[in-house]
Amino acid sequence: MSRVLVIGCGGVANVAIRKCCMVPEVFSELCIASRTKSKCDELAAELAPTTTTKLTTAQVNADSVEELCALINSYKPDLVMNIALPYQDLTVMEACLACGVNYMDTANYEPEDTDDPEWKAAYEKRCKEKGFSALFDYSYQWAYRERFEQAGLTALLGCGFDPGVSQAYCAYAKKHEFDEIDTIDILDCNGGDHGYPFATNFNPEVNLREVSAPGSYWEDGHWVEIPAMSIKREYDFDQVGHKDMYLLHHEEIESLAENIPEVKRIRFFMTFGQSYLTHMKCLENVGMLSTTPVTFEGHEIVPIKFLKALLPDPASLGPRTHGKTNIGCIFTGRKDGKEKTYYIYNTCDHQACYREVKSQAVSYTTGVPAMCGAMMMLTGKWIKPGVHTVEEFDPDPFLDALNQHGLPRTENHNPVLVP
Ligand code: NDP
Repeated sequence: MSRVLVIGCGGVANVAIRKCCMVPEVFSELCIASRTKSKCDELAAELAPTTTTKLTTAQVNADSVEELCALINSYKPDLVMNIALPYQDLTVMEACLACGVNYMDTANYEPEDTDDPEWKAAYEKRCKEKGFSALFDYSYQWAYRERFEQAGLTALLGCGFDPGVSQAYCAYAKKHEFDEIDTIDILDCNGGDHGYPFATNFNPEVNLREVSAPGSYWEDGHWVEIPAMSIKREYDFDQVGHKDMYLLHHEEIESLAENIPEVKRIRFFMTFGQSYLTHMKCLENVGMLSTTPVTFEGHEIVPIKFLKALLPDPASLGPRTHGKTNIGCIFTGRKDGKEKTYYIYNTCDHQACYREVKSQAVSYTTGVPAMCGAMMMLTGKWIKPGVHTVEEFDPDPFLDALNQHGLPRTENHNPVLVP
């Protein structure tokens, strides 16, 4: 029995909420709150006849700690699931601290306004100190560790697939397969085709910021940064086939390097088709990925926000996307003195997801782990005061829950390694 407040009602939240409503014995009451209340009302009206979870809705501006506190204090949830955008992570964490509620999200904080001079100064200092220049990093949310610990509250960061399940796979490998891990390669393959020349599978602004940034990986205790898309590999993915993939910076590398310190190298690869890359490069070259406002015919517009308005809504890709995703981790290391390799991954079919929850597999593979992570917290399995990432918790009950709720794992003890 629990009361959960979900912030956001976009692609990922839709899946998470639908899945929560399939487990009413854990999620007995749920409030869907977002900027556009009509979307929450529509979803609640559709789900109400299908579930015993008691659904309510609310309007909230999650950039306002005050509004969030008013909502949390009136609803009194046991957990706040922040599935809005990374921009809202800090305000929602502040509100959870003020109201004494546990917190979780699916992506780490990044600022909406990258021209803010105060933020920019801190960012430039961090780039120099750490050696990577992605806009996001854990420092903003790790700064809350002591306050959550002292308040006896748990904050679970980045509980989607990657970050999220990718870290649970690492914890699982460390617990069951290795005494010592030497290398981790996280491979994110989307073999789906939506038929558009260019569209993003989740929030376009967040997605394009991520993939147009320089790539980086962790090696021998420090970051190595490379120009965007400059390391390319080909891999033959189970149930998808041969795909080109590119090395990207990704947030979980940072926490894995801290929590599994023996690892010598951690890399993250994501597959992209040529059409996606060509469009992205062109949009970048003409300034359409910029977050700096420009004045156009007397109106101030942010180019990437305008682009978002032109691109297909990721939520609309569900019915037209065919094919599968394959996301997992390849490890090298030692067990009982012997060298070994190990690959753990999930494959997920876009059309099967659509039939189940009216969404494509990218939102599905994020929303299901969000629901399972919330379940771990609500059932007390993943409660540890402080601010934590997924690999800090016992992976077994979480991976069992994923098996049961639509994202089963496959293991391979003799995988092809990535050169
Ligand atoms: P969407 O853009 O589809 O949805 C975002 C939702 O948040 C919308 O409902 C939006 O409201 C709401 N929202 C935005 N700003 C505010 C605000 N100020 N106050 C209240 N509500 C707000 O994004 P996705 O569902 O694709 O992504 C959700 C999160 O999941 C993101 O943080 C993303 O980075 C993360 N993600 C994580 C992955 C992982 O594997 N870990 C993979 C994919 C995504 P409105 O409807 O009014 O716009």
